[in-house]
Order: sequence, then C-alpha cells, then structure tokens
Amino acid sequence: MGGSGFTIFPEEILSYTGADYGIAGEGEETLLTLLQTLERGGDARGIPNVYTSSSKGSGFLRIEEDYESRPFSTIDKKLDFNQYTERGVYSIQTKRGCALQCLYCSYPLLEGKKYRLRSPVSIVSEIEEASDRIGKPITFEFVDSTFNEPKGHAEEICRELIRRKLKVRLRTMGVNPRNTSKELFGLMKEAGFAQIDVTPDSASPSVIKSLRKGFTMDDIRRTASLIKEFDLPAMWFFLFGGPGESRKTFNETIDFIDEYINPADLVYMSGGLRIYPGTPLYKHAVNEGYISPEDKLLHPFVFYFSSESPYDSLREWILEACDQRLHCLPSSDTTPPPGMLREASVLRKAQGLDEPMFRTLLRLRREWKAAGKL
Ligand code: SF4
Repeated sequence: MGGSGFTIFPEEILSYTGADYGIAGEGEETLLTLLQTLERGGDARGIPNVYTSSSKGSGFLRIEEDYESRPFSTIDKKLDFNQYTERGVYSIQTKRGCALQCLYCSYPLLEGKKYRLRSPVSIVSEIEEASDRIGKPITFEFVDSTFNEPKGHAEEICRELIRRKLKVRLRTMGVNPRNTSKELFGLMKEAGFAQIDVTPDSASPSVIKSLRKGFTMDDIRRTASLIKEFDLPAMWFFLFGGPGESRKTFNETIDFIDEYINPADLVYMSGGLRIYPGTPLYKHAVNEGYISPEDKLLHPFVFYFSSESPYDSLREWILEACDQRLHCLPSSDTTPPPGMLREASVLRKAQGLDEPMFRTLLRLRREWKAAGKL
C-alpha cells in the first residue's frame, strides 16, 4: 500500500486491507529499499516509513531531502501511451512541499513544509525527452500543489521553456493568487500554457482569512483580471463551508464570480472540508467539539461544515447558484453526459479545435440547455 491516503491513515488502512506492507510518504527510494530487503530475506520492520502489521516505520514521516537527483519519469515507455495522447496529460512535478498552511490542507504533512525545488533545467529536460520519445502532441501538466510558489520558480521554468523553444502544450494545477503578476502570466503564455487551474477556495474576505489562505481579495481580483488580459483559459475551484462561512460569505464569493470570472471559464464548487488528522482544521474541529480526539476520521470520514452553512443549506445554495450559471458546476458533477462528450469530440475533430476540452463542453452545455436537452 502507499500514496497520499495511506500516508495520512497508515495503520488504519493496513489493518482494514490486511496488506502486508505499506509505505507512508514518498515511495521512490523506500520501495526499492523494501523490495531489496525482502529479496534477501531481511526484516522490513524498522525501515523508515514502512508499516507492517507489527511495526510503524520509524514512528514519524521521513521526508527525502534530495528531490533534485531523481531519475526522470519514463512512464510512457512502460505502458501504451497512445491512449493518453488525445485527452490525457503527462504529469510533471517541479517541486515538493508547501510552506503555506491553509487550514484544511494535508499537503504540508505529506510533502513537508519546506519547498524542495527541482532546477528549471532538469524539469524542462524531462519534458523535452518525453516529448521527443512520444513523438506526437501531448499536454504536459504541472501537478504541484501550488505552481507559482515560491515566487520566482515558475518564472524561471517558463524562461527555460522559452529559451529551448519547445513546441509543447502546457497546463498547470494550483495557481495561487498570492504571487500572480503580469510578468508571470506573460511568461506562461509565451511558454505555451493553454490552461490553468486557480484555487482561491473563497472570495469572501473573512473566509479567506479563516482558511488561512495567505492572500487577499486584491490578489484574487488581480489574478482574475490577468487571466482575462492574457486570455488564459482557467478552471476555478471554490470550497465552501469552512469556519465562518454563512449565506452572506457564500454570496460574497458568488458576487466575485459574477463580476470577475470569464463566463467561458469553468467554476467548480464544493461544500464541506474533509477533516484530516494533523491539520489546523483538525485542531479547530476538536476545540469546537465538532469531532472528538478519539474519532478515527477514516471510516466514517468527516467533513466540516460551519454552523451557519450546514450540509443541507450549502448543498441547496450550490445547486441554486449552478443552476443560474451554466459555467458553474458542483464538484460532484465532473462527468458530462456521454452524448455531450461524443458530440464534443466530433466537433473538435471537425473544426480542428485546440481549445481546452472544458470550453467546448461549456459551449455545448449552453446549446443543450437552450434546446431543453439538459
Ligand atoms: S491548499 Fe495549496 S497553498 Fe494551501 S497549504 Fe495546501 S498546498 Fe499549500
């Protein structure tokens, strides 16, 4: 066993599944150590981060410091990548760790609170090699928790991409409003970014504070304006229900969406914050009496809803807001109807569209709604 979920609940998942071994945290080096130990008939207990039914690694999560010298991913050599070239992406990480401390987030626990940066040269070489091997257009996606933190790193990566004149299509998760600038967006556009994800979670001044997002309303407004100015297709993510959320703060975020977000862009809305052990939200929820320190939080898992935005109300507000705005979707609604997906594929081929798929789907959604098909 391994992965993020396992890292948060190692003992619970090992006992639930009955698996022999599990690795908490990063697996690249630990998996090799585990396999080599098992191969020579050694004892896996005591290998840092390895859990067995009778041992718990070294009792704390060891973060591997040397992230820079890892070999490049060669996943396209190991599986038939043709299936992925049309709608899939090739994932790339530019760093691990996050020094911010958003209330609910488990990333700093999983990857550490210190940034471990890869050099722009190494990142771009990995992209270049993979692109040459695959030999046909493929989108490379930066899957860091936050692409543009710490300030300057994303800019340097873009400069290296531009310097090498790579003809690749790029997208990224996690553009944080804190460090956006004309310079960053200009470089991203020139480097070949075709789509970005923006994750403010809220656009209510009091809620972004209580979620400890580390940015201000001015940062969010500036980011939205830059996205329009540079015409970067964007998917926005909002997360409602945190401490201090109410109908008033919900409406503040909706007002922001109406005023600042391009209706050709997609907005995902979710309700409730999953409570993970070790996060500031966990402490907050225990102090508030929302959960007890004895709660295991895996089975059943627990979502936090503020007293003024309980589950039923929030669900109703989100559905109502999405019903009135066709570019807004509840985050549970990630799969379009199969007929719409087929129509989108046909349209894209016939018209040679290279816009992000979500933009084609949003246009069809409007047409289907007008024709009474939705
Ligand atoms: S939500 Fe993003 S920015 Fe905030 S702590 Fe998590 S990874 Fe960092």
